[in-house]
Order: sequence, then structure tokens, then C-alpha cells
Amino acid sequence: MTEIDHLTAGGSSASLTERYGSAMMNSFGRPKAVFVRGEGCHLWDADGRKYLDLLAGLAVNALGHAHPLVLSAITSQLSTLGHVSNFFATPAQIALAERLVAMTGTHAKVFFTNSGAEANEAAFKITRLTGRQRIIATEGAFHGRTMGSLAITWNPAYREAFAPLPADVTFVPYGDTAALAAAMDDTVAAVVLEPVQGENGIVVPPPDYLDNARELTTAHGALLWLDEVQTGMGRTGELLAHRPGGQGWAADLITVAKGLGNGFPIGACLATGDTAELLEPGNHGTTFGGNPVAAIAGLAVLATIERDDLLAHTREVGDHLARQVTAMDHPLVSHVRGRGLLRGIVLHEDVAPQLVEAAQVAGFVINAPRPNVIRIAPPLVITMAQLDTFLEVLPQLLDQVQIPKESP
Ligand SMILES: *Cc1c(COP(=O)(O)O)cnc(C)c1O
Repeated sequence: MTEIDHLTAGGSSASLTERYGSAMMNSFGRPKAVFVRGEGCHLWDADGRKYLDLLAGLAVNALGHAHPLVLSAITSQLSTLGHVSNFFATPAQIALAERLVAMTGTHAKVFFTNSGAEANEAAFKITRLTGRQRIIATEGAFHGRTMGSLAITWNPAYREAFAPLPADVTFVPYGDTAALAAAMDDTVAAVVLEPVQGENGIVVPPPDYLDNARELTTAHGALLWLDEVQTGMGRTGELLAHRPGGQGWAADLITVAKGLGNGFPIGACLATGDTAELLEPGNHGTTFGGNPVAAIAGLAVLATIERDDLLAHTREVGDHLARQVTAMDHPLVSHVRGRGLLRGIVLHEDVAPQLVEAAQVAGFVINAPRPNVIRIAPPLVITMAQLDTFLEVLPQLLDQVQIPKESP
């Protein structure tokens, strides 16, 4: 207990939701719950109800809530040295940068940020330093909400009110090598892709798509920029989704964030080869990015993924989920897609938001990135038995939703 605990203590979900509505800008709509505590894969709301967390703070809490190593690492770092700005270096920041560089399997360097969008901003600025401007992005892509990351994000509803955005972005259909090839020429600075499209509903491209993108960008002297903000850090059963088993080529620019800090805000832009040398003093900056507390959180996450063999566990539990849902053979379910513990359950009808509500009433947190897609992205530490508690009720939840009537 501390002397400021009374500032947040007490209050029902209803009263807190009302205060939220008065004090918070309405950018996220009405909150679906007010959570007061988390432990492992479980959350508790302000009314004392317990939930199984199958969303993990949007693919963030890889080790679940209140993970002992993250907790002790952050506490120890904060009590030793909390923040110094980027005029100075810290051992935590250097060690995490080295750990991320090792993931690329090649010469690389790191720029730390506080979020995914900021990591993409850094990457965007680096593409301009090539002397070229044109960026090729993909239909359905999501890269964040800042002006630069929005410029390469597809959803018109997110973009329209904010025009003009940084220019010279061409969108091509995702997963379509021929369309990408047709859009390429020697004016292209970079091609930006998600290895699996997350916000678009866990869309997995054909198996050769990333290799083809690598070949096409190399042939045209353009950078390949992979946004691994959602797919990276173990979520897909790999540290980087585009380097399965830690093998093969690395992209020129790689952005990561979500899972890296287990909820402590941190992102990173990695650049490999000559691209690693493009940023020079004065080109870019950040006050908080790479803060030692955030960096130690990242180190604790990566050390735990390795120590507990969580990549193999993620693949195993993710495959179990896909098999079980497929075996249910429920008439509403079309198919399951995704990798590791980034899975989309694709429905035949636009009832995913209804299913999210029904699941919450039953004590499960899931989400609907698209009207017909449920996203399952639990902590990577989830056990089969925990996941099975959801799989057991899923058929009943699916039976509960009302199919919208065809309009005449
Ligand atoms: C979430 C996400 C972002 C944005 O990250 P923020 O931390 O919300 O800024 C960018 N790219 C992808 C692929 C994401 O899923």
C-alpha cells in the first residue's frame, strides 16, 4: 500500500465507466470493462468478476499479467536508475539493442521508441534518407495512428479526416506478388508489409510472398520494411515472423513493439546492412525511447521466452486451438487462420462483435478486428487446459448469436 492508493481505490464498474466518459476523450468508445487486477492469464474487473484474457492487451502481455521476472526486473531497474534521456546511455538499453540485433542474424542497429507507430515513424524517416520517396504499402494494412504511419495504413475511415498525409504511397493488394511486381520501379524507396496482417483480421499471405517481396525490392534497390509490431516477439511462434527458426534473410527495416515490453511501453526500429547507417545525429530523436526501465522489461521478456521455450509452446498451443475449432465444425465457423497464438476465427456472418459480448459475459476477453473475424491472442504462457475452458464454451457462444436477417 502506498499513500496514493486511495486515489484509485473503490468504485464499481458502472461508476468508473461514468467517470471515464466525463474525463476521457471519446476516441475508443465506451470501455467494455474496467479492470483492476491481472495475474497470469486472468483479469479481474472493478466488480470482482474474473476473466480469462485471450487478447493480452492486444497481443502485448506475452508473459501474462504481473509476471514475476518482469516485475522484479522493472522494480530493480527503477530503484537503481529510471530515466536519463538519450544524451546518455544505459547498460539495459545497450543489452536489449544487442539482443534485438542478434535476432536479425546479420549486421543491424536499433532505434528505440515508445510504441509501434513511433517505430514505424522512425522507419518511414529512414526510407526518406535513401533519396527516394515512393512507398508501396498494402490494402488492409495497419501501421499505426501517427501521420506517417497513417499514410501507409489502408482503412479510409482512419485516414479521411486527416488529409493531407505524407504523400507518394501506393497501395497494392496484400499477398499478391504480381500486383507488387507491377507497382515496382526504381523510384520506390521501400515496400512496407506485415508478415501477417493483424488488424485486418489475421490475414496470412501465400508462403512465397515475403521471399518474392525480398527479391523484388533488392532488384529495384528499394528497402524491404517489415512491420512486426504485432507478429514479432514470439506471438507467431517465432521471434521474428519473417525468420522462422531464426534462419534466412532479414528485412532492411524491421519494426517491433507490442509484445516486447509485456505492457511496459517500448518499441524499436531495427535496420540491417547499409540501412543501419542512414540515421545520423540530428536526423531523429526521442526523449523516452529506450528508457532503461522499458529496456529491462524487454530483456526480461526475451530471457523468459528463451528460458521457458515459449516459442515451441506458442506453436503447439496455437495449433491445438486451430485444430479444435476446426474439429467443432460449427455452421457459423468458416475457418481458422494465423500462426502461433495470433489466430483469427473467420465466421460466415458479421456477428463477431456479438460473439465478443457473449464471451465477455461468460468470462472471456476476445476481440473482433473485423465484423466476421474473432481474434485470439492470449498470453503466450497460456496452458492448453486454460485455453480448453474457452474452447468448451465456444460452441454455445456461437449458438447464442443472432444471425442478421437478409435485407429484402
Ligand atoms: C498495433 C500495431 C501498430 C501500432 O502500434 P502502437 O503501439 O499502437 O502505436 C503498428 N503496426 C502493427 C502491425 C500493429 O499491429
